[in-house]
Amino acid sequence: MPVPKQSFINLKIDKSWTLFLDRDGVINRKIDGDYVRNLNQFEWLPGIHDSIRQLSLVFGKIIIVTNQQGVGKGLMTHEEVNTIHEHIKNLVAEKGGKIDAIYYAPELKSENSDLRKPNIGMAHLAKNDFPGIDFLKSIMVGDTMSDMQFGKKAGMITVFITNVKLPPESLNLIDLHFEDVAAFAVYIQNPGS
Ligand SMILES: [Mg+2]
Repeated sequence: MPVPKQSFINLKIDKSWTLFLDRDGVINRKIDGDYVRNLNQFEWLPGIHDSIRQLSLVFGKIIIVTNQQGVGKGLMTHEEVNTIHEHIKNLVAEKGGKIDAIYYAPELKSENSDLRKPNIGMAHLAKNDFPGIDFLKSIMVGDTMSDMQFGKKAGMITVFITNVKLPPESLNLIDLHFEDVAAFAVYIQNPGS
């Protein structure tokens, strides 16, 4: 189990809180050196439906924010990305959970788009669509440093998903870390224990 920073021991999450989730490597298996180009290549991580179902009971909103520069590279279309995202929303709902919205950044890294993480354009899109979102009552869960930078820039609590030791220089960007979303879901339902 992680050692929570002192300020998180009494962290009390209720429906006024928002959960931001990265996609690849958090919800579905990441394809090293490539992109999940279409639904055939999309593979859920084990246990993720049950975790999202539990987290849906705790958080008011759950939002996915994902960089998909494969679109900018011409390797996949907006339609293919949207098909994957409809599949995610539908399957999660079928299993008793809820994803309120999914935002993606199709631009190339070299374009330095405001939408693309670590920039926080997608957080602002979410806040536009759901004005009740408070970044100070939000948690960003991801598996890369750009996710952690995104969360910190917006003022969120950051949660890193990893099964390896954290690099020391990353510690100021990471508030909590867990092996997978299931372990985070267990923690968030009883953060004091
Ligand atoms: Mg990722």
